[in-house]
Amino acid sequence: MVESDHALRRLPFNRERRVLVIGAMRRLADDLRATGWDVDLRRAPTLAEGVHAHAQEFRPDRVVVAHPTSRSGLALVRRLSDELPVPVEMRDPVGFITRPGELAGILGRRQPRMDTFYREMRRRLDLLMAPDGTPEGGAWSLDRENRQRPPRTRDLGVPPPWLPRPDDPLDAALRQEFADLPETGAGGERVMAASRAEAEAALDRFIEHRLTSFGPHQDAMMEDDWAMSHAFLSGPLNLGILSPERVARRVADALDGGAPLASVEGFVRQVIGWREYVWGWYWMRTWRGVNGLGADGPVPAALRGAPTRMRCVDATMQGIHARGYSHHIQRLMVLGTLMLLRGTQPWRALQWFQASHVDASAWVMAPNVIGMALYADGGRMMTKPYAASGAYIRRMSNYCASCLYDPGTATGPTACPFTTLYWDFLDRHRGDLGQNPRMSLSMRNLDRRDDLPTIRVQARDCTALLDGGGA
Ligand SMILES: Cc1cc2nc3c(=O)[nH]c(=O)nc-3n(C[C@H](O)[C@H](O)[C@H](O)COP(=O)(O)OP(=O)(O)OC[C@H]3O[C@@H](n4cnc5c(N)ncnc54)[C@H](O)[C@@H]3O)c2cc1C
Ligand code: SF4
Repeated sequence: MVESDHALRRLPFNRERRVLVIGAMRRLADDLRATGWDVDLRRAPTLAEGVHAHAQEFRPDRVVVAHPTSRSGLALVRRLSDELPVPVEMRDPVGFITRPGELAGILGRRQPRMDTFYREMRRRLDLLMAPDGTPEGGAWSLDRENRQRPPRTRDLGVPPPWLPRPDDPLDAALRQEFADLPETGAGGERVMAASRAEAEAALDRFIEHRLTSFGPHQDAMMEDDWAMSHAFLSGPLNLGILSPERVARRVADALDGGAPLASVEGFVRQVIGWREYVWGWYWMRTWRGVNGLGADGPVPAALRGAPTRMRCVDATMQGIHARGYSHHIQRLMVLGTLMLLRGTQPWRALQWFQASHVDASAWVMAPNVIGMALYADGGRMMTKPYAASGAYIRRMSNYCASCLYDPGTATGPTACPFTTLYWDFLDRHRGDLGQNPRMSLSMRNLDRRDDLPTIRVQARDCTALLDGGGA
């Protein structure tokens, strides 16, 4: 195992990201040693130099690697195959059910859609399937029972997720060790499991105490509840210390213990559907330079540390600052939508997400940020952009109640930036989106607005405030 200085310093990562990733490597090395393996864990300027140094010292007769999870990793393995004097064998990737390139085969000539892929995965794994080959409960998706608005209480009132000991000695040592590297975030709160034992504990806790409420509340956001009913499993899944198939099967088995089907199905879809679909999409194309909407703006100042009056952004950023975590709807409908409406350049947005979240990886960032959140791939991955005004955030969160802005207003001193920029976004992209049948209702609503000239002026001012700070 190589701790690469280059990888550690590549971006001003959230402090907890290094604590999670390096901590997981060191714990895995210890676990392996305890079961009799010899582990060479070394620090090196780059991953390649680490492998060369190992090969020189130990003179192996072959090198066996798991398929890397990024294009740059794959290029490195190919380079090492040429450079090393011994054969390099590549095995299946760790942490996925499907192989790179398999998505295209599964979808065949069909239009790439997550639902088609997900059904295929359910059949293939025989998960949540009735004996006659139909989906358990009679429908592939039970989202109608999910997607509820947040309750009127301050928080969901579910037991907290599994969390590591706050005084974990390795975490403390790592925070100290990396204190001089450029970083963001306050640090001090690791929320993702960093060893196999921790990952099992986190999965148990989720299934036992939080799965039931996951489904109905998975799309909601609450100001005083940063964890909601989410699972906090992306970190251990992406680090390869927890198997996605095992997670999906354990959650499906929870039906026998009385967990509601809508929650179970909703969660299984995330893991064998969305996660594998995104992984497949990563390998379907190259992502660098993709910019279908011609966006060239910066990352909004509020995401770079400037104070903001936007309550939804402020609350989301507080979570990222403290723990390098925001949940899916915050990533998609607050951070992603803000950058979509502002017109943030996709690669800048990607780098920002990569630095700020502890569970980031190249494969997961590119399709989620560039394809899903920013709709920058010309609509190949998603059928329509996730563009939404403040009305969406008002419906699915309780942020707006304590915000100085008014989500229902697009112009004037209390206009919500999301709402102003939403109409301006539709107006600016009539050419790109006007022919999309799924956008026709939004476009008709745009045509009905008689205040577009005022919105355009307000959007210019709002953009300047977003870029420079003060929004
Ligand atoms: C703009 C944007 C950026 C994202 N960045 C990341 C990232 O850096 N790393 C990451 O792992 N996920 C990312 N996601 C996907 C998803 O938001 C996170 O996996 C999830 O929030 C992690 O928290 P959790 O484990 O508590 O998830 P839960 O809400 O409890 O979901 C369960 C699991 O489903 C999987 N999952 C659900 N949706 C996706 C998806 N779209 N892509 C991949 N896995 C999914 C994850 O493994 C997750 O652990 C991103 C999504 C968006 C829209
Ligand atoms: S009013 Fe607008 S900026 Fe304020 S919380 Fe609601 S959506 Fe966010």
